[in-house]
Amino acid sequence: AKEHGKSRFKVFNQKMHDQALRLMALETDLRRAVDLREFEVAYQPIVCLDTRRVCGFEALVRWRHPEHGVILPGDFISLAEDTGLIYAIDNFVLVAACAQVKLWQTTFGHLMGELLTLNINISGKHFGQPMLLSQVTRALDDSGLNPQALNIEITESALMDNPAVAEEVLKQLKSLGAKVCIDDFGTGYSSLSYLQRFPIDVVKVDRSFIDGVEGNLDSQAIVRTVFSLGESLGLKIVAEGVETPAQLAFLENEGCRYVQGFLFYRPLSATEVDELLAGGSIG
Ligand code: C2E
Ligand code: CA
Ligand code: CA
Ligand code: CA
Repeated sequence: AKEHGKSRFKVFNQKMHDQALRLMALETDLRRAVDLREFEVAYQPIVCLDTRRVCGFEALVRWRHPEHGVILPGDFISLAEDTGLIYAIDNFVLVAACAQVKLWQTTFGHLMGELLTLNINISGKHFGQPMLLSQVTRALDDSGLNPQALNIEITESALMDNPAVAEEVLKQLKSLGAKVCIDDFGTGYSSLSYLQRFPIDVVKVDRSFIDGVEGNLDSQAIVRTVFSLGESLGLKIVAEGVETPAQLAFLENEGCRYVQGFLFYRPLSATEVDELLAGGSIG
């Protein structure tokens, strides 16, 4: 038994060792990727249910690795956060997407009833860093994008980790004219009172609740509550991860006006969005 335990320990150790090596290799790769700008932005349309048309996009980063192909953010964001590379990655997406959406507005603006909006994800680690404000200011100035079109998405934990700092940063972002959006709403550790305390414009109901609305009464109750709360607080609510007609039917019945999910569109390349917009699917 003792021998067995020993060898298991060895295997475990070897595994940890391999994992550490892989992580180190990934970190080296990620540093190089930042230097060489190996990132691309995918744009997932947000659909306005009143018109059934695209009213904005969420920018989602992709890493085009020279050997491994496209790597999704789930496989490198946490490493980017641990290594501080996230500041450069978030900023790359911010700069690229502001310029891209400005171009779409200019090219297709005459077809639009509303201003085409852009949602950008800012890591909780990045949020609250003094550089964020100047990066956002710079991206807006350089692109000429109307600040009103920019939504900065942050999670509840980014707010709650340091509420006093968060409140200040939100105010500064708002003073630039940008909007603030709570991402993955309902999954974090927070109290509802912060919706009132912080100057928030948009709330995105997390996919896990949308997933449940087909059969799960708790999810239904939560989604309903968020919509009625949103209405009384004057918030814009976006349902994320809408995948089925049944989910859509439930949401429409609850007065939902904005949706994002595979039922409508997957994240698209800029070229695919060009085609979509040229086809007139915007509003
Ligand atoms: P998120 O901000 O919650 O973004 C939505 C994610 O859900 C995206 O995954 C999107 O492709 C996926 N999604 C959208 N609709 C559906 C659906 O109907 N069903 C399902 N199953 N999934 C759907 P993605 O692109 O892999 O991004 C994952 C996460 O990585 C994002 O979650 C966000 O937290 C983070 N992320 C992405 N881009 C950036 C970035 O530029 N900066 C930072 N800091 N984080 C980013
Ligand atoms: Ca997001
Ligand atoms: Ca989300
Ligand atoms: Ca998320």
